[in-house]
Amino acid sequence: MIITRPRDWGRIEANLAEVGAKSVFIMGCGQCATVASTGGEKEVLQAKTALEQAGYAVSGWAVGEVTCHSGGTRLETRKHFGDLEAADAVLVLSCGAGVQTVADAVKKPVFPGLESVFLGNVVRHGVFEERCQMCGDCVLDQTAGICPVTTCPKGLLNGPCGGMWDGKCEVLRDRDCTHVRIQRRLIEQGRGGTKLLPAKDFSKKLKPGSVNLREKKGGAR
Ligand code: SF4
Ligand code: SF4
Repeated sequence: MIITRPRDWGRIEANLAEVGAKSVFIMGCGQCATVASTGGEKEVLQAKTALEQAGYAVSGWAVGEVTCHSGGTRLETRKHFGDLEAADAVLVLSCGAGVQTVADAVKKPVFPGLESVFLGNVVRHGVFEERCQMCGDCVLDQTAGICPVTTCPKGLLNGPCGGMWDGKCEVLRDRDCTHVRIQRRLIEQGRGGTKLLPAKDFSKKLKPGSVNLREKKGGAR
């Protein structure tokens, strides 16, 4: 899921002031931002209170089921057409993908209420960790399912670095070195330990990403 954190409130107020907004519509997201406790109903209502206390009118609010889904968000905005018409601006509590989906669906200025920080695993309730950078050239088959470029703070594909000591990471001292973990797991699985991996092909990283399953060959560039 996409991990988000609240955006600096001063930046949000500056955005609203820039367009002279007096009335705001708030849109949350029922998926990642709800799980991250940044853009579910509770946080949308907190934003509503904060806006009202700051002197804005809140014309309405909604929590989209999946805010980055174009069709779903268009439907949601149609349901709230009147409230959106009454708003001078829309504040979106979702990742940047959701913000852009809302911006495509409405004619009003749309502003992000959160910062999108990483693609994260839910380790347990309220604890998220980055495990994949979506590089397009995955090495997990060679690394016993542990991504070195994401979980090593130095992003080393082949390691460990010279700072590893007694199996621990030099940077995150409470953690075992990623490359030690990879080595251990490969040996436990009878796979003989780490091999030198060739340099990654970062040209495989899609920027901007686009996959169209309706095209004949699967459509990924
Ligand atoms: S190698 Fe790339 S695709 Fe595979 S887990 Fe790491 S960042 Fe993700
Ligand atoms: S000790 Fe290991 S995990 Fe930590 S920075 Fe060095 S190579 Fe990366």
